[in-house]
Amino acid sequence: MNQVANPRKPLRLNVGFIINSSIGTNRDFDIYFPKYQDDDLVIAEAGGVVNVGRTPQGLIVQGNFSGKVTLECVRCLTDYEHLIRWEFAELYAFTQDNVTDSGLLVPDDAQIDLQLLFREYALLEFPIKPLCREDCEGLCAECGQNLNQGDCGHSPEVDTPFLALKGLLENQHNDELD
Ligand SMILES: [Zn+2]
Ligand SMILES: [Zn+2]
Repeated sequence: MNQVANPRKPLRLNVGFIINSSIGTNRDFDIYFPKYQDDDLVIAEAGGVVNVGRTPQGLIVQGNFSGKVTLECVRCLTDYEHLIRWEFAELYAFTQDNVTDSGLLVPDDAQIDLQLLFREYALLEFPIKPLCREDCEGLCAECGQNLNQGDCGHSPEVDTPFLALKGLLENQHNDELD
């Protein structure tokens, strides 16, 4: 049986019972948000599982999540839904002696708040150049038509020979002027 997370703050885990368990004990917490919102970050159907395991030094907290974000395609400038998956594994140490570079300690009240980790690791998965699909056709440079929705007649295959011809004619014209 997975633990039922705090329904109002699903990313705040009560880990007191794990701290008091024997080494090796671990539990899964189910996390789900129909719509997760944190400042500018909005993720639909965001959720996954957090596993918390007891070690001699502290608690290993591992999260595996997925969700849908709305992004703007860099080629056709259309909003589309993008699936992201993210995960993390961090040690929440019992004492300062065992603390990792992340600097995480088990709080005195035994409530671990994962909101910051959840947010930061999700942001890392945002693509630098979002594409609505791998072969997005983009916009026509001539008329701005979204080429995924149909050809406007300005396709490069048609343009190239004419542009080359136009270039030749202009060069010829310039030569005549010299
Ligand atoms: Zn696109
Ligand atoms: Zn066009």
